[in-house]
Amino acid sequence: MNAAPADQIRLLDLQAIDSRLDQLAHRRRTLPEHAEIDKAGADHTALKDLVVAAQAQLGDTTREQVKAEQDVEQVRSRAARNQQRMDSGSVTSPRDLENLQHETTSLAKRQGDLEDVVLEVMERLESAETRVTELTARLEHASVVLKEAEGRRDAAFTEIDADVAKVQRDREVVAAAVPADLLKLYVRLREQQGGVGAARLYQRRCEGCRVEFAVSDLNAIKAEPADAVLRCDNCGRILVRTAESGV
Ligand SMILES: [Zn+2]
Repeated sequence: MNAAPADQIRLLDLQAIDSRLDQLAHRRRTLPEHAEIDKAGADHTALKDLVVAAQAQLGDTTREQVKAEQDVEQVRSRAARNQQRMDSGSVTSPRDLENLQHETTSLAKRQGDLEDVVLEVMERLESAETRVTELTARLEHASVVLKEAEGRRDAAFTEIDADVAKVQRDREVVAAAVPADLLKLYVRLREQQGGVGAARLYQRRCEGCRVEFAVSDLNAIKAEPADAVLRCDNCGRILVRTAESGV
């Protein structure tokens, strides 16, 4: 393949532009914010689950409290009814009176037990409320941390994407000036060779693979016409001669 030396030099410009685009894409992929967002997102999800569980616990305990208070109320009104009957003097049989008295005593004991239950449930209710409050605050904080990291990532994206757009415009201009067959070869080699399709011959080295050419190779290169498109024997990349090639 042949191409004018100026077109071959243009290929090096194109290579520099493509490498710059690769760097920008790499930077976009490897922003530290990605890991931060993953972690903050996981924290947020875990806290959300904890808040849901704590709210369910609070709901259960609230229902338990209502039930416990109803139990106390039931016993209390029953005792009040008994007391009324005794006070009214309508119960005259000593045996009935004794039964009533007996029941009143056991109701008082039962009321005391149930009031203990109410106190115990109220304590649990308080800690369930505290837990919901604490976890909700932590969830809000996690949400802020997540949004903040996403904001920084998006700002970095905007900046990188603006650079990419600008470099891509430059690329279009340079690529349009490279002969089609040379461009095609370059694109293919770039794909095969880890992003570098064209390398400068600089001070007797291929800048693609860093191999230094032997004198015999350099003599062979020297013998090639200026418009011959050379390939590095070692890496296969397009080898572009410049004034500093040492040949
Ligand atoms: Zn090479």
